[in-house]
Amino acid sequence: MAQDTATLARPSVTALKDVPQIARKLVTEIPGPRSRALMEEHKQYVSAGVGAAMPIFAESASGSVITDVDGNRFLDLAAGIAVTGVGNAAPEVVDAVQSEVAKLTHTNFATTPYAGYVEVCKKLAEHTPGDFAKKSVLLNSGAEAVENAVKIARRYTGRPTVIVMDNAFHGRTNLTMSMTTKASPYKRGFGPFAPDVVSVPYSYPLRDSFGQDGVAAAKASIRRMELLVGHEDIAAIIAEPVQGEGGFIVPADEFLKTLCDWAHAHGVVFISDEIQSGFCRTGKWFASEYFGVEPDLITTAKALGGGLPISAVTGRAEIMDAVQPGGIGGTYGGNPVSCAAALAAIGIMESEDLPACAAHIGDVFLSRFGSLPERFGCVAAVRGLGAMQAIEFVKPGTMEPDAEIVGRIVDAVREAGLIILTCGINGNVIRLLPPLVIGDDELDEALDVLEAAIAECSAQ
Ligand SMILES: *Cc1c(COP(=O)(O)O)cnc(C)c1O
Repeated sequence: MAQDTATLARPSVTALKDVPQIARKLVTEIPGPRSRALMEEHKQYVSAGVGAAMPIFAESASGSVITDVDGNRFLDLAAGIAVTGVGNAAPEVVDAVQSEVAKLTHTNFATTPYAGYVEVCKKLAEHTPGDFAKKSVLLNSGAEAVENAVKIARRYTGRPTVIVMDNAFHGRTNLTMSMTTKASPYKRGFGPFAPDVVSVPYSYPLRDSFGQDGVAAAKASIRRMELLVGHEDIAAIIAEPVQGEGGFIVPADEFLKTLCDWAHAHGVVFISDEIQSGFCRTGKWFASEYFGVEPDLITTAKALGGGLPISAVTGRAEIMDAVQPGGIGGTYGGNPVSCAAALAAIGIMESEDLPACAAHIGDVFLSRFGSLPERFGCVAAVRGLGAMQAIEFVKPGTMEPDAEIVGRIVDAVREAGLIILTCGINGNVIRLLPPLVIGDDELDEALDVLEAAIAECSAQ
C-alpha cells in the first residue's frame, strides 16, 4: 500500500460544516420536510422489518448524485449497494430499457426465448474467469442466484453439504439466510434453517492468528471441513472473494486458491459469490482474478443490470448441464428489459474501461486514507480492492470493535450530504461503494466530508 508523504503532512482537516458544497447541495435541514412527511407514511404502511438506514426519500439521480424530494443533492458512496456501478440513470441503460420495454415486455424465456438472454449469457462466459466452456442461467436476485448455484452443485455431485465461510452473507431466503453467519438482523427468529450448511473460518488477516499466511488459514478451514463433514459429502464450498456485508474483508493471498485447489482434488464444486465484488467493482472484472482462482460456478447480480433486477449463475458447461430441463429458471428470470439493461451496462464497462476507473478510485482513496490508522487511534485498518474500500473502527488502544463511533460518523456525514453504508459482523466498518464513474472532484469532496467527520468524532 503506497503511502503518500504529502498526505501524511496534510494540514489539519477542514471542519465538517466548512467543506464546500460543490456536487452536494443542501437546501433544507436533513431530513427535509417532504422526506419527514413521507417517513410518517412509511412508518404507517411499510413493514418495520424493512430497514431504513437514511430517512431521506430519493426523487431522481444522475451519475453519483442523488436528489431528494426536498431538492437536496447527495453524493452517493453506496451505489444502491454496489448496483449502479455505471452511474445512476446512465443514459445508455435508460435508452436500452425504454426501447426494450416498448418492444418486448415479457415472454418467459423457457416459453418463448429471445436474443437478449442469450447475449447476456455470452457476455458472462466472456468476462468471468476461466478459459473453458461456460453456460449460465439468469434469475432475478442475488439470493436466487446463490440458491440455484447450490441446487446445481448438489445435482452435479450428488452430495448434500454446502460449506460456507464465517462472516458470510448470501441473502435472505431460507437457504441463503442459513448460509449467512450473522444472526442479527438476518436470522433471528427465522428458524428452522436449511440443513447441511456448515461454516468454517474465512481468512481475516487483521484478526485471525494466521495474518497474511493464507495457506495456513485455508488448511485450518480444510481440517474443519474434513472433521465436521468429510469431503465425500461436500457438494460445494462457497466464498465471497472479498466479503461484503461481513466487513469488506480481503483474505490473505493463497487462501482462496488453496481452498479451490483442495475442492478440485476432491470433486467439490468451488463457488465464488461475486454478487457484490463482481463486474469491475474491485478494479478487475471479477475479484477472483486477484487470487488466481477460476471458480467452477460464479454468482453475479448487483452491478450486472446497471440498476435493473437481474442475476446469474455462470459456470463450467458440464456442471451447468447436469440439471434436467425445467429444474432451474423461473417466471421472470432474465426478463427482456433487464437483459437489455445488462447489455447496456456491460457495454459501458467495456467502452469506459470501468475496471481501470475502479482501480483509480482505490488509488485515490488509499493515497488520502491509507494513513488513517496512524492518524486516528479509532481506525484499526483501511482495506479493500479498487472501489470496494472500507475503514474498520475500534476503541483506541484495543482491537475491540466500535460500532458506536461508526454510528456517529455516519450520522454526521449523512447530514452533511453523503449516502454511505456500514458493514461488518460487528457493525464497526464504514464501506465505500461509489459509482465507478464518480468524478475526481466528486470523490475528493466526499472524502473531505468523511475525513472531517472522522476527525471530529474521534476528538469527542
Ligand atoms: C447482496 C448480496 C447477496 C444477496 O443479493 P440479493 O439481491 O439482495 O438477494 C448475496 N451475496 C452477496 C455477496 C451479496 O452482497
